[in-house]
Amino acid sequence: MKKSFFILFILLILNVLVLPFVIFLSSSAYLEVSFFDVGQGDSIFIEAPGNYQVLIDGGPSYSKVLDGLSREMPFDDKEIDLVILSHPESDHMTGLLSVLENYKVDNIIWTGIEKEGEKFESWKRMINEEKANVYYAKAGDRIIMGEAILEIINPQESLKGKEFKESNDTAVVSKLQFKDSSFLFAGDISTKIEKELNDIDVDVLKVAHHGSKYSTSEDFLKKSSPLVSVIQVGKNSYGHPTNEVLTRLSNFDIKVLRNDIDGDIKIVSDGLVYKKIINK
Ligand SMILES: [Zn+2]
Repeated sequence: MKKSFFILFILLILNVLVLPFVIFLSSSAYLEVSFFDVGQGDSIFIEAPGNYQVLIDGGPSYSKVLDGLSREMPFDDKEIDLVILSHPESDHMTGLLSVLENYKVDNIIWTGIEKEGEKFESWKRMINEEKANVYYAKAGDRIIMGEAILEIINPQESLKGKEFKESNDTAVVSKLQFKDSSFLFAGDISTKIEKELNDIDVDVLKVAHHGSKYSTSEDFLKKSSPLVSVIQVGKNSYGHPTNEVLTRLSNFDIKVLRNDIDGDIKIVSDGLVYKKIINK
């Protein structure tokens, strides 16, 4: 990756005063990646030039992802091209249940792993009722969105029907490439899976597992060499994001953006030759 060869705008949308600027940038030439402030959980909305819309995870709340989508999508647009569930844990899945209820979802990618629980049963029932195309993620699968390509890099093989005591390492991890700019969405994977991933040199890293110290190793940061990291984190009792991870990020001089401090985070890229970060 040529680090000096792309444009990256980061907008931290904390109040309406910033909004006109966001709208200004929302032309079809830009890739927009919004990391919704959903509390302790993940929810990422991607809009690629050509109006391709992808939602990765829905966060732990039924309502916050809907708030985020209503800010990012036109009022009369109730259809999302693709929803990805990284793994069926509450802090990633809950909001997607509201999304399935309120939006028409055309395609769904998830791992198809088995799990017990009421929300998981709702998820399975609702994706069935949605009549969307359902795909089971495995490394190498690619979603072509005009000039932007989203590639699945974990799990290495289809996990459909399998059961896991702990699902974090089963998480769908994907890499988004738009011209010279790239993003890595690392789900909740631990260092064990980080070690298995190749070709992950990116500009922006969605830090795995809300900043857990068992993820985001030094080796992984060396391999991925991001300029910017985003930690999707809210109030929690796990000590996320951990000092260990914050220190590693700072040792590599990686800019850190956090939903618990910065609110909604939006990164806009035209994929080209100049890097600019706009903060609040
Ligand atoms: Zn999580």
